[in-house]
Amino acid sequence: MNPKFETQAIRTQSERSQFLEHSTPLHLTSSFVFEDAEDMRASFAEEKERNIYSRFTNPNTTEFVQKVVQMEGAEDGVAFATGMAAIYATFVAFLNAGDHIISARAVFGSTHTLFTKYLPKWNITNSYFAIDDLDGAAALIQPNTKCIYVESPTNPGVDIVDLSALGALAKKHGLLFIVDNCFATPYLQQPIKFGADLVIHSATKLMDGQGRVLGGITVGKKDLIRELYLFAKNTGASMSPFNAWVLSKSLETLSLRVDRHCENALQIAARLEQHPSINWVKYPFLKSHPQFELAKKQMLKGGSIIAFEVKGGLEAGRNFINAIRLCSLSSNLGDSRTIITHPASTTHSKLAGEDRLAVGITDGSIRLSVGLEHPEDIWNDIENALHQ
Ligand SMILES: *Cc1c(COP(=O)(O)O)cnc(C)c1O
Repeated sequence: MNPKFETQAIRTQSERSQFLEHSTPLHLTSSFVFEDAEDMRASFAEEKERNIYSRFTNPNTTEFVQKVVQMEGAEDGVAFATGMAAIYATFVAFLNAGDHIISARAVFGSTHTLFTKYLPKWNITNSYFAIDDLDGAAALIQPNTKCIYVESPTNPGVDIVDLSALGALAKKHGLLFIVDNCFATPYLQQPIKFGADLVIHSATKLMDGQGRVLGGITVGKKDLIRELYLFAKNTGASMSPFNAWVLSKSLETLSLRVDRHCENALQIAARLEQHPSINWVKYPFLKSHPQFELAKKQMLKGGSIIAFEVKGGLEAGRNFINAIRLCSLSSNLGDSRTIITHPASTTHSKLAGEDRLAVGITDGSIRLSVGLEHPEDIWNDIENALHQ
């Protein structure tokens, strides 16, 4: 019998050392020793599975990777220093000069910069389609199109992308289907079930969940991950063993934490929706969300992020943020602490005004990452700020 999600998150552990420790220790070592000349040769020839050097593998990073692999229903994975390192490496490992990407318009700010500033150096181009326009997506496919890339829910608009429809489109045209699953976490959504070839996470967010360390990971099929691993070990954006140790511990409580994040977020979203100072609220598991049915089909719960707009535009948005006392003003998300961000002036400030509007970021939009404080305290802070 296959152990269930919660059990795997706790019981997937690297081999015990001679000390028979119960909790996995931190393996802070740059390299590992060989027994003799033959062991050295055979290890480098990959005739045995073992650790050689922590840029390649380390027991802590392997444990973290294996947990996420099981959670996502993948075959293998590679850990990276940050989420952006994972995204960058995944593109550069699989794309060649002249290739073309199609992606849903709403992507993380730095991913947009990668598409528009850095990948074009190799003549790798990108076309955006609107979240709900799958015919438009199909129409963008050219002979040099190599992959479809999406986030769902999107950052910061919490729109939902139809993963199974895009999975089928990718399969039909022989394209790689790559999903940034950061907002959902593998607890709420497993894109491989819907046809994704590669799934990427910024582990910095809900996987850590306490705003301590940066990390990234890509998981998927064995042959693809082998290619990505070779790229990663030779280019060096490896995850540190310390961060992997922290993250692996964090995954033990992922389901518990995400359950509570979702409970709190749904409560806050429902209350925001009733408040007279709010123009609109978007949360995937509110009936008013335009893709509510699709969200329920793809996700176990609605996640921790709410997007909303305070009435009165930019000025009212700024006043609201300045009146916040308990919640943090920060650009991170998926933390135990509730975090409020103004995307137009921070995470998405590099987008031109019309590009921001196209992904639903108005000047007054607020992104709320609902934390694990008591929901009454979170609500009191927000309500007080709305009265200012
Ligand atoms: C934060 C984030 C990233 C980048 O992750 P880092 O760990 O900060 O590099 C990528 N995608 C999404 C959706 C994110 O929220």
